[in-house]
Amino acid sequence: LTLAERVSLIGPMDYRLLKFLYEKTATHDWIKLSQISDELGISKREILSSLSKLYDLRLVSKELVLGENAYRITFTGLNVISTKNLYVNKILNKLGIMIGTGKESEVYIGYNFDGDPIIVKYHKLGKSYRNYKKYREDTDSSWIRRTVHNAEKEYNALKCVKSNYGQVPSPLGSSLNAIAMEYIYGKELYKIEISDPESALNDILSTVRIAYKECNIIHGDLSEYNILYSLDSDRSYVIDWPQSTNIQNEEILLRDITNILYYFSKKYNIIKGVQETLNYVKG
Ligand code: ADP
Ligand code: MN
Repeated sequence: LTLAERVSLIGPMDYRLLKFLYEKTATHDWIKLSQISDELGISKREILSSLSKLYDLRLVSKELVLGENAYRITFTGLNVISTKNLYVNKILNKLGIMIGTGKESEVYIGYNFDGDPIIVKYHKLGKSYRNYKKYREDTDSSWIRRTVHNAEKEYNALKCVKSNYGQVPSPLGSSLNAIAMEYIYGKELYKIEISDPESALNDILSTVRIAYKECNIIHGDLSEYNILYSLDSDRSYVIDWPQSTNIQNEEILLRDITNILYYFSKKYNIIKGVQETLNYVKG
């Protein structure tokens, strides 16, 4: 089943339960059937029929805790609630196909209420080895929380940089781990040969400067993979901001700038000094 199909199968009771289970991730790893029933004031029988449907749709997982079934929401369950919220808030009218899946996200095309394409990016923090080492003590529920936090960070970065006229997709709305943004019809920089690399580098560095000076953030993963070149406007857009950090992390700014300058020097023979560029960004 696609995400859109899963969302369409969810009724009010299912939605209510999913939201309840999401809220419980703040304090619980697993939550027992009897506790769900008590807290919601709904009979176990009614809850169980919804939970078994949610389980079949892989929106919750279950485990036996002290002889009783206990539940928690899955990442797909989180995607379902956030999609539903984007529908309700009239940000998204229809979810389309998935156009990309990375280590830590799934990116879909969607359509707004004018029928125009938009992007919906669902964050999904994987238990990569690096993350696993870093957050060894985490419970499973805290991965959900961390994911939502990352999405919020990306959304806030887009909002600030865009409102200061940086080259990022316009943020359109967000919910939990999902963010909706302008669809950029184009290609990642690494996939193409562009005719005016000087102005592309200009778009990128001026955006890095705006982020630094106006928003107090550093992108943190700047590379030709996270630049979209618009085939409509020939402008470059910096995407993928969840790991942005605050400007105290000088060495991350240095790494970002070194990366992007290296790419332009290697591919287009544009030579720009690192120190000079740092001065421009911070000055
Ligand atoms: P991640 O690399 O963490 O999976 P990205 O934000 O870099 O997430 O998005 C992954 C891919 O999705 C991009 O390389 C691009 O192909 C596509 N994409 C993301 N945002 C947009 C957008 N606003 N417009 C068009 N395509 C996008
Ligand atoms: Mn990326």
